[in-house]
Amino acid sequence: MNETPSLSAPPATDGVGCHSGKEALRAAAAAAGAGETLARYAADYPIGPHDQPQSMCPAFGSLRVGLRMRRTATILSGSACCVYGLTFTSHFYGARRTVGYVPFNSESLVTGKLFEDIREAVHQLAQPDLYDTIVITNLCVPSASGVPLRLLPKEINGVRIIGIDVPGFGVPTHAEAKDVLAGAMLSYARQEAEAGPVAAPRAGKSQLPTVTMLGEMFPVDPITIGRMLAPLGLAAGPTVPTREWRELYSALDCAVTAAIHPFYTASIRELTAAGRPIIGSGPVGLSGTETWLEAIGQACGISRDRIDAGKNAILPAIKGALAGSPIRGRITLSGYEGSELLVARLLIESGADVRYVGTACPRTPWSETDREWLAAHGVKVVYRASLESDLAALQEFKPDLAIGTTPVVQAAKQAATPALYFTNLISARPLMGPAGAGSLAQVVNTAIAGQQRFEEMRAFFNGVGVGHAAGVWEEVPRDRPEFRAQQLVQIQKKQRSEEPIGC
Ligand code: SF4
Repeated sequence: MNETPSLSAPPATDGVGCHSGKEALRAAAAAAGAGETLARYAADYPIGPHDQPQSMCPAFGSLRVGLRMRRTATILSGSACCVYGLTFTSHFYGARRTVGYVPFNSESLVTGKLFEDIREAVHQLAQPDLYDTIVITNLCVPSASGVPLRLLPKEINGVRIIGIDVPGFGVPTHAEAKDVLAGAMLSYARQEAEAGPVAAPRAGKSQLPTVTMLGEMFPVDPITIGRMLAPLGLAAGPTVPTREWRELYSALDCAVTAAIHPFYTASIRELTAAGRPIIGSGPVGLSGTETWLEAIGQACGISRDRIDAGKNAILPAIKGALAGSPIRGRITLSGYEGSELLVARLLIESGADVRYVGTACPRTPWSETDREWLAAHGVKVVYRASLESDLAALQEFKPDLAIGTTPVVQAAKQAATPALYFTNLISARPLMGPAGAGSLAQVVNTAIAGQQRFEEMRAFFNGVGVGHAAGVWEEVPRDRPEFRAQQLVQIQKKQRSEEPIGC
């Protein structure tokens, strides 16, 4: 593929976005010189069984990674409506980080002026007293136009400059967009470390070999993992995405990398290039922790005695915590965080009857252990799960509790089935080791016990109507199915001539 920027006018991409055909956007981006980047994304983030799960704008993920880092500013280049939504996110998280925007119009996009505007903005923002790093993100339209961020200087006044493309037509989920930026940062840091001495960790270099962890976790989880590693003579290293630049050097300097979240393909490529072995899964529940400690110990060449001592030190406590916090009930689970398979394992070891796990993330070698374990326990695992797949699981398995994304929870509650949001209520809890073993029981059991309330609510609202007739009316609105039928025919006709795209 050719990454050389075209000197002729770029393809017309102004006004395109979520609503435009993906193939048209990909073709435009390839013609504008971004073909190599898109090919790499296609290899790193494979699609299927269907194209793209219904999810938020992927750039949300990479933006969040940048917002978490100290002394890091972000510049977004994209349509104003996209940038509005994304910056709203930064306010939502109270990130208190600089987010800049370089606006464009048809003229600046097609004449190449937009790139010059970005270059000027980066030079203005590159103040070493304020920032270590500036991240510039091409959203859909500039990506499709091939705005060549790779031509930006790698560093200005000592401030690192990192340009990434995060188009909705090339990066399937916001989870994988986190990896796009984390991988770009690890790549930059690896080249710095290879070129000469780099900054030591803030708390000094660990005296023990360390384990780098991939994936955002509840804050107590890395501490728990550190305690579990101590008997093996190992220490917990940084968690990637990191919170400051120097942690990237420590991450690369590990003895082994634990892909707790299994979709960090670009980050894994950088850690592998640094010579670090990678292991999948995570220390959840009794069986998961036992397998994980064994894999870590073997990857680090730890003696049999020490591995066994590590297991003996921790497994009885996990067994006790699981027995002391049983979960009873049938559960379906879906999410887009990447930890869905681990949570399902923990629920099953707690006694739950888990029938279905849907994840928006792709199948990778790093979740294979968990997939096999779940399959052996009769669980249907669906990667790149669509909303339709998740809703079909509700119909098929009739759970006592649905754990899922917002629309899944909404559908479950409408059917008087207790439901919990995966992101806010499940993945924001400790999952690892003894702390994780008991953490889900209270919220899950409380939700399941709420079944009676749902029945009462359904009885209370009985008769107020559904769909077009929902509400209390003096004159109930008349449904007009013939209008929808006509519109459906028009939509199908239009779909035959162009492929739709979702955010
Ligand atoms: S996927 Fe994101 S950047 Fe692309 S058009 Fe949709 S909101 Fe904008």
